[in-house]
Amino acid sequence: MAPAILGDVKETFTVGWLYPDLMNIYGDRGNVLTLLKRASWRGMQARLLDLGKGVTTGIEEVDVFFFGGGQDKEQALVYDDLLESKAVPLAEALHRGAAILAVCGGYQLLGHYYQTAEGERFPGLGLLDAYTEAGPKRCIGDVVVEADPDLGLDPPTLVGFENHSGRTFRGEGLRPLGRVLRGHGNNGDDGTEGAVGGSIFGTYLHGSLLPKNPHLADLIIGRATGASLAPLDDALELAAHSRLAERELAHR
Ligand code: GLN
Repeated sequence: MAPAILGDVKETFTVGWLYPDLMNIYGDRGNVLTLLKRASWRGMQARLLDLGKGVTTGIEEVDVFFFGGGQDKEQALVYDDLLESKAVPLAEALHRGAAILAVCGGYQLLGHYYQTAEGERFPGLGLLDAYTEAGPKRCIGDVVVEADPDLGLDPPTLVGFENHSGRTFRGEGLRPLGRVLRGHGNNGDDGTEGAVGGSIFGTYLHGSLLPKNPHLADLIIGRATGASLAPLDDALELAAHSRLAERELAHR
């Protein structure tokens, strides 16, 4: 089958999975599978790079980094390596056009800090102008988000599942991924979900996120590779998306 790609595109597509053994909960690995599959369905040679603690070999090849969720315990195990061995190559990767998708615990550690309910503070990379502090109750349940119109997503919604105690507060200039239609999102107060800073996409949506939001997956792949991707038959994925959105919005 001829690759469904419009215009020139990189031959390879590499996903760098940050701490796959520690930061990977509530089905987050589905995001990695979706990115790899949707790139290979367009004819790219999709590759996965395991970027565990102390690993940076090949990081300069990565197009999209995935940083999954993790409980406080796992975040405490990774943040020193994140600051000591990943911070500089990640900043260099962003500078050369790579993208990052970070979910929940990973998202929190891209901000200035994450402070647990016990008051323990894990410094973050400060790549996103945001900070997170745990609240008294966990935010748990299905989420429907009206995506930021600037992202040009069709359908204009994102669906997923959240389970976090952290409340994330964005700086003035950091745009949210969207507005919460159902669920808690960043902090349960300001009505926003996630954050988009350049090619960094932060979100609280587990589920996993991308299989039910193929339009976001393609936005991230396109952003990182410069390719304009020909559409795929996403009827099944979008049926799952609308099913969840309709079910949850009926309870509003
Ligand atoms: N430990 C963080 C919190 O509770 C992140 C949890 C997660 O990744 N689901 O907010």
